[in-house]
Amino acid sequence: MARIKVGINGYGTIGKRVADAVMLQNDMELVGVSKTRPDFIARMAVSKGIPLYVPEGHEERFEAVGIKVSGTIEDLVSKVDVIVDATPGGIGAQNKPLYEKHNVRAIFQGGEKHDVTGFSFNAYVNYNEAKGRRFVRVVSCNTTGLLRALYVINDLYKIKEAFAVIVRRAADPADDKAGIINTLEPSIPVPSHHGPDVRTVLDVPIETMAIKTPTTLMHIHALHVRTEKTPNREKLIEELSKYRRILLVSKDLGIKSTAKAIELARDLGRKRYDIYELVIWKDSITVKGNDIYFYQAVHQEAIVVPENIDAIRAMFEVADKDDSIEKTDRSLSIGDMSI
Ligand code: NAD
Repeated sequence: MARIKVGINGYGTIGKRVADAVMLQNDMELVGVSKTRPDFIARMAVSKGIPLYVPEGHEERFEAVGIKVSGTIEDLVSKVDVIVDATPGGIGAQNKPLYEKHNVRAIFQGGEKHDVTGFSFNAYVNYNEAKGRRFVRVVSCNTTGLLRALYVINDLYKIKEAFAVIVRRAADPADDKAGIINTLEPSIPVPSHHGPDVRTVLDVPIETMAIKTPTTLMHIHALHVRTEKTPNREKLIEELSKYRRILLVSKDLGIKSTAKAIELARDLGRKRYDIYELVIWKDSITVKGNDIYFYQAVHQEAIVVPENIDAIRAMFEVADKDDSIEKTDRSLSIGDMSI
């Protein structure tokens, strides 16, 4: 069967990771990526052999600094079966008419509103509902993290209500413009947008509050989930550990912070120290009656990457849910961080 031709519009934090992941799939072909600025990232893409596409009229800016351009963004769109739009939040919606014009499918990211596609995706929760769709939105990093844990708990015990406090990294490591220093910034109004975003994928009652913190290494969530059926701690841990995209770590082994989780990924040789898995502190899981409490961490730059790959397979109906998830996980060594 012909490989699915994929283009990445927006070769930034998420785009470059999805591009690398696409190149690891034997049923997909990376046709090219787009950049708006002729910087070192554009140069690295070309040196890796990835064709680079730029906005119309900007070709000379790239070529002036010796960066080879393969065409305009519209040229890229005209050559692919699907575009993964990883442009900054809000730009994806503006790009949608271009994808419609060329009759290509498109995946948008969590920075776009649910309404842009009318369908938001998480591989564990609704892979099958993405089948055959033209436009899909992969939810944000925090929402992906919440969904993975809530999916397992809901399946086992049926969630009656959930509440999460999200402690958010203020900026990505390479983001030298957006940093906040020596301050904590509560997200107002309350509740934050993350709860409604979860509900676009999984119908569970959840509210969230969020606080931005001056760190770049992962988000942390403090969760309280009340269930209909009485949970059992050991059973819950056993079930969570069956999911490769959930990594249970232990404070007893010294993984007591996001810094240490990232160090583990570095030591295990993960590219860009990416943690695709949702990290749950096993020792934090506490059950009291029908209430479950725990802490989890989300590596914002990486967690949505496998979701984008599975969204492509679902849209083109080329693999069943379990086959796609397994194939994606194997290609990215997801599940190999268990210690
Ligand atoms: P980014 O700023 O790192 O990268 C965006 C890229 O798009 C850059 O290369 C930029 O040059 C390019 N770009 C800008 N305007 C463009 C345009 N008009 N056309 C084409 N390309 C353009 O952004 P990011 O952090 O990768 O975020 C991308 C999307 O992924 C957003 O919707 C965001 O909300 C979502 N997301 C981000 C994270 C994260 O932690 N960074 C996590 C999950 C989801």
